[in-house]
Amino acid sequence: MKPASFIYHAPRSLAEATTLLADLGDDAKILAGGQSLVAAMNFRLARPAALIDINKIATLDYVTLESTTLRIGALARHAQFERPMTDDPVGALLPRVARHIAHLPIRTRGTFAGSLAHADPASEWCLVARTLDAEIVATSTRGERRIAAGDYFQGVFTTALRGDEILSEIRLPLLGPNWCGGFVEFSRRAGDFALSMCLALLRIERGRIVEARIGIGAAADRPLRIDAAEQALVGVAPEAAVFAAAGALAAKDVDPMSDLHASADYRRDLVSAMTRRALAQAIAP
Ligand SMILES: Cc1cc2nc3c(=O)[nH]c(=O)nc-3n(C[C@H](O)[C@H](O)[C@H](O)COP(=O)(O)OP(=O)(O)OC[C@H]3O[C@@H](n4cnc5c(N)ncnc54)[C@H](O)[C@@H]3O)c2cc1C
Repeated sequence: MKPASFIYHAPRSLAEATTLLADLGDDAKILAGGQSLVAAMNFRLARPAALIDINKIATLDYVTLESTTLRIGALARHAQFERPMTDDPVGALLPRVARHIAHLPIRTRGTFAGSLAHADPASEWCLVARTLDAEIVATSTRGERRIAAGDYFQGVFTTALRGDEILSEIRLPLLGPNWCGGFVEFSRRAGDFALSMCLALLRIERGRIVEARIGIGAAADRPLRIDAAEQALVGVAPEAAVFAAAGALAAKDVDPMSDLHASADYRRDLVSAMTRRALAQAIAP
């Protein structure tokens, strides 16, 4: 299939892009890596009258490490995260996640920010942003707005981003000492969207877990944090039985849909297994 006709704009600055977006309104779509949008246009699921291609805005192409934050510009591609960028535990975690996203040609074009703007519930970067409590920077002609990841994801393909805003940057907080993390997902074929995924983060001091974060993807309309499992892990030693209990709590807390790919019961079992395995991976040497 070919897309419906559209007018193509290629601004050279963020200011030019936001002005175009403000003028064109709902008729326009931002084009980043095109790995979700172009497919949707080819199937005529999306018919924007105009595309604003941000690929020529060089100032959006960066990943910058600061003392407590990794700042990710709107043009940073998935493949850039395949190598560790920092000694912080986040540095080891991102490559582990990145290699699960689609296939290499898609990873070299698709962007971290595009994944967050698209907000597929099975997106790995959406789960990372939610679990690490990222800050999302939205820019429009009215200025800059920062949105906490917990408020940003609002449903399937639905975010707090307004129609005239460009997602210009993601700020990922680093974890710091004594943290470790594990990421596991299950998909039927390598490169497919996952049926379930878990990102587990633990802060361990003197043999006890003092802080835990359990993020679950592909089980609801947005990435989830599982409070009950996080609380149950605090104060105990990191062991297999504790991880199994956390997995059971996570499975109890989700309410997945049945669809062509898997039943709700099967997805709930996957949530339990993914949680258990991500926690085990987090403490593996
Ligand atoms: C075969 C295949 C398999 C895939 N598997 C996976 C997978 O396993 N996991 C996964 O997470 N993804 C997967 N994807 C999707 C891929 O990761 C996309 O790259 C990603 O979803 C969107 O990023 P993009 O830069 O390509 O955005 P685009 O396709 O250019 O845009 C997607 C949407 O976001 C909007 N948008 C993009 N950037 C911005 C911005 N900066 N500000 C405001 N709006 C913006 C666009 O207007 C559009 O609505 C797969 C894609 C394909 C084709």
